[in-house]
Amino acid sequence: MLPIRDAVLQGVTQAFGYTDGATVFRTGKLRVMVYSHDHPPPHVHVVTPQGLAKILVEGSSGHPRLVWNLGLSRLKLALALAAVEDHREAILAEWRRIHEHP
Ligand SMILES: [Zn+2]
Repeated sequence: MLPIRDAVLQGVTQAFGYTDGATVFRTGKLRVMVYSHDHPPPHVHVVTPQGLAKILVEGSSGHPRLVWNLGLSRLKLALALAAVEDHREAILAEWRRIHEHP
């Protein structure tokens, strides 16, 4: 198993031409990004060397739900969904910190 539990919070970074974004966490080559110039509902963009995917943090079931996938393998997608599930609270906290200004 990849060390999803060992994923660590990352600081602000840049990726794929976005001039500003926050890497919420990283596990292996999987990066789960919350971008500051983005729109609700809360979601992440998964960035890997193979492709990109967008995942809603809380779908209608209350669990992460895939919105679209461009190039990630089924395994990577499963790891990404599990990672978002594992870090749901941290991701939502990051989303609120970035998007919900007082
Ligand atoms: Zn987005």
